[in-house]
Amino acid sequence: MTFDLLVGQQDAKTRLVRTLTDGRSHAFLITGPDGSGKSTLARAFAQYALCDEPTDRGACGRCNPCVLFEAGTNPDFRLLENTKREKDKNLKVERVRRELSADVDMRPQFSRRKVYVVEADDLNEQGQNTLLKTLEEPPPTVVIVLVARTAASLLPTVLSRVCHVRLRPSPEAEVGQVLEAAGVTGTERIAFLARYAQGIPGVALALARSEDFVQLRDGVFDLLGRLGTATRGELLTDGFAYFNVPGNRKEVDDLLELLASAVRDLLVLSAAGDAGLLIHVDKKDIMERIRPKGDDASRRCQNAATAVETARRGLAASTNFETTVCQLLLQLRKEFSHA
Ligand SMILES: [Zn+2]
Repeated sequence: MTFDLLVGQQDAKTRLVRTLTDGRSHAFLITGPDGSGKSTLARAFAQYALCDEPTDRGACGRCNPCVLFEAGTNPDFRLLENTKREKDKNLKVERVRRELSADVDMRPQFSRRKVYVVEADDLNEQGQNTLLKTLEEPPPTVVIVLVARTAASLLPTVLSRVCHVRLRPSPEAEVGQVLEAAGVTGTERIAFLARYAQGIPGVALALARSEDFVQLRDGVFDLLGRLGTATRGELLTDGFAYFNVPGNRKEVDDLLELLASAVRDLLVLSAAGDAGLLIHVDKKDIMERIRPKGDDASRRCQNAATAVETARRGLAASTNFETTVCQLLLQLRKEFSHA
């Protein structure tokens, strides 16, 4: 498992390797949103730290520690995370004590080091305090890698002991590479997924594999396409019915996010913006047909965007579902009616 397993993120990889080889720190925190590849990087770095002959690209994959690591049986490596089956939201303090605090003083068996990867989002304050004792005086052979969505959930005392490495959103081309490697095809589809996922490869992959998402998105464009011609009555029955399908109602956040991104694209087109900036590249023809035309086209799109945002906030604050959705539909119809 080399660092190549995670596409891009060269700054993060270099910083981890340099900090460890220079001996500046033996404790690390890798943060990034879900799907950014932080756990993948943590494992590749763990193998690097255990490997007998690592290079800048990562572990060699051939030495004894590497072979054991890749078989999942290297005793010098420990992963502390909650399995999905565990009812407890947090890692048990007792487990942190047993598998980490009490374990660090035992010598490594096959490598120069022992490496502990801890999913820190699973740690409560007590668990972090237990960990802190080891972070304060780690044996020289020990490397600890914490993984979390953000640093915000960690105690300042823990943060002060770690080298913090942040994963940044990846450029679209890199997300595209990840998608292609996973067998996703179609230039426009890949471009759409990379943009919509805002540079997070795991999100783009999950969307690419989701049938529901494809249907939800087609439904949103279908709805937009009918706005200009639907009567008020049709809109309030058929339009509302689309939002009220049990699956869609449950995923109304995703639905509104899709709608917001489509309205945003309509604004790009109406303001004669660069079509290269579109998110829904493959829906350009539909959008050209439905976008408002005339002097006030941009303002209309802006109003529509505000209406979607108002609905989103309203539903988040538990306003009445039917009232909120119907108000939104009528507002959208008003803005797009002469399209
Ligand atoms: Zn190796």
